[in-house]
Amino acid sequence: MGQLTRRNFICGPVALFPTVLLASARRVGAQLPSPASAGPADPKLIEDLVAANRILVDQGVLDGYGHVSVRHDRAPDRYLMSRSIAPELVTAADVMEYDLDSSPVDPRGRSMYLERFIHGEIYRARPDVLAIVHHHSPSVIPFGVTGAALRPVYHMAAFLGEGVPVFEIRQAAGMTDLLVRNGPLGRALAQTLGPRNAVLMRGHGAVVVGPTIVHAVARSVYMESNARLQAQAMALGNVTYLDPEEARRADAAVSGTYDRPWELWKRKALSR
Ligand code: MN
Repeated sequence: MGQLTRRNFICGPVALFPTVLLASARRVGAQLPSPASAGPADPKLIEDLVAANRILVDQGVLDGYGHVSVRHDRAPDRYLMSRSIAPELVTAADVMEYDLDSSPVDPRGRSMYLERFIHGEIYRARPDVLAIVHHHSPSVIPFGVTGAALRPVYHMAAFLGEGVPVFEIRQAAGMTDLLVRNGPLGRALAQTLGPRNAVLMRGHGAVVVGPTIVHAVARSVYMESNARLQAQAMALGNVTYLDPEEARRADAAVSGTYDRPWELWKRKALSR
């Protein structure tokens, strides 16, 4: 089924129709078989995923919306994410398993995030990505709607040094409700992200990826800080951004130390 969907998409715009029909069939409740479970994930991974939800709210990246996922540690074609609830309320019992078509394993009637296709399609396109955050963090929104490029103004956001593209959903699908609510939209977003660490979504938010959940969370927190600081700097005058070579070196220096803020953020978030 996933193969068929993918082939249709690759064949070009005309071939999108079968995909659209399939999506309609899903909406009206056609019973597609649930994928079998890849087996239990490492409990530490689930624990980190729950902590990530709480941290991202505590740090002002997520509110009642947005989501974070991790790739299954034993099955690269599966990922783990909460059922559709506010991130601050997520517990281990809320975590569901999905395949890369973002079809749920054993859904048991639980509601699912409409935009889960962001996760499935990026995991499919990027074997190096093991965790993904989708957020509507307020300070990043202006950079998606003005043409002002989001660029690193300090070393903690050096991971932005390779540039942050903007996903224009109108280019992919014309007039929409701005939600990435199916596989083709998720694939278009993954294509705009390319090999980079983050992508802005015009009029909506952003997606941040990482090689671990700690990276994805820390990058999300520092993306928000950088956006706020960059807007302040731009209001003051000409901004000197990190040189791409400085960004490369600073990212190498900083990214191995994210465990330090993670432990702090986790203690604070879980004590509330
Ligand atoms: Mn969203």
